[in-house]
Amino acid sequence: MAFEGLTERLQKAMRSLRGKGKVSESDLRETMREIRLALLEADVNFTVVRKFVKNIRERAKGADVLEGLNPAQQIVKIVNEELTKTMGETDVPLNKSEKIPTIIMMAGLQGAGKTTTAGKLALKLKKEENARPLMIAADIYRPAAIDQLEQVGKQIEVPVFQMGTDIEPLDIVKAGLAQAKENHNDYVLIDTAGRLQIDEKLMDELKDIKAYAKPDEILLVVDAMTGQNAVETAEGFNDALDITGVVLTKLDGDTRGGAALSIRDVTNKPIKFVGQGEKMTALDVFHPDRMASRILGMGDILSLIEKTQQDYDEKQAQKLTEKMRENTFDFDDFLDQLQQIQKMGPLEDIIKMIPGMANNPALKNVNMDPKDLEHIKAIIYSMTNEERTNPDVLNPSRRRRISRGSGRPVQEVNRMIKQFNSMKKMMNKMSNGNMSGMENMLGQ
Ligand code: GDP
Repeated sequence: MAFEGLTERLQKAMRSLRGKGKVSESDLRETMREIRLALLEADVNFTVVRKFVKNIRERAKGADVLEGLNPAQQIVKIVNEELTKTMGETDVPLNKSEKIPTIIMMAGLQGAGKTTTAGKLALKLKKEENARPLMIAADIYRPAAIDQLEQVGKQIEVPVFQMGTDIEPLDIVKAGLAQAKENHNDYVLIDTAGRLQIDEKLMDELKDIKAYAKPDEILLVVDAMTGQNAVETAEGFNDALDITGVVLTKLDGDTRGGAALSIRDVTNKPIKFVGQGEKMTALDVFHPDRMASRILGMGDILSLIEKTQQDYDEKQAQKLTEKMRENTFDFDDFLDQLQQIQKMGPLEDIIKMIPGMANNPALKNVNMDPKDLEHIKAIIYSMTNEERTNPDVLNPSRRRRISRGSGRPVQEVNRMIKQFNSMKKMMNKMSNGNMSGMENMLGQ
């Protein structure tokens, strides 16, 4: 899970202050030492760490935290604010041109996620602004790059301009831009070539494309999993191209946090988006404040709400409400619900966005294995249509047959049916205006 170690260590550093009416100089020094080590271990750039710790120490002293009430809380607040500041303070929106098309040039090393991100961004623009983007395939070196962009384009229904691999990238860009003008596309995304390392030839090619296309936005795509290397890459690209923004990818992996916390400070360029999965919808606007809360394990409830809204199918939700009211919720609906949940991504990541849950020890033992969902699905798939729509017919012999069919123990089948029935009962109560169902759920 992203930031896991960092969250744990920062919380530990601050926990030692909790409950102290007064914090001494040496308590503060010890906490600062812990915070510094936590950041260094998370692969945050050394200079960034030094500046960060210095700012916190000065603010803690200046604000008379040591004298005030509840010093621990005040320090958490300061750490949260400084983390936010390190990552850029406010969201920075995509640059837009006054006249169409807005030109976005994507740059980055091979494997960072450039092509995928171009597709994700095109889809986002299409969905949110009703835009008509065109993607230009200007990576002629990586053998499958053009095919990959075409596949992405097909998937999200965005046209791709390509001329094969035997023509100079700059010429492809020229022809692509001409076509975008002709077709009145409002956005152009140029997928440029990457290399395994920064080299002069690559940079010269990108500089030429920049000089011709005069992009409104040069987005550097970097892999958050590569920590300090991502920061070095960003510095290199920024020196050569004067980028306008960064996309951090693979934040769904178990990145330690170094890239997220260092890039803004080192390059002075904003992180504009984060990639949090391989799916085309897994691109989110970067909010420094929410990311800081997430790093501190304070949850990111706003992002969770947005995610739910984005991934939750309105029609499905309406259908569900109706089913609840009519008390006809059956296993097919249950299956739909599970699929909706799965679409939102790994359960651990969702839970982590809920305040207080990130490091909740009780959850350490909860098995969030996606296989569990697969097992439930297997059980439902082994039911006949009749059984799915009318669960009352599920007698012991049918349950044994389902157990054999799904390869799951019969106890598990029983447990699942029991859970389903109590969920159904609760839904029915709730939809009839009786909130005791909800109270039961909340354990009140
Ligand atoms: P490019 O060489 O920079 O164009 O990189 P690609 O777009 O081909 O991406 C390289 C790999 O990273 C692919 O397998 C992508 O599916 C994967 N990838 C890209 N972004 C993300 C992300 O945010 N999360 C995860 N888990 N994988 C990603």
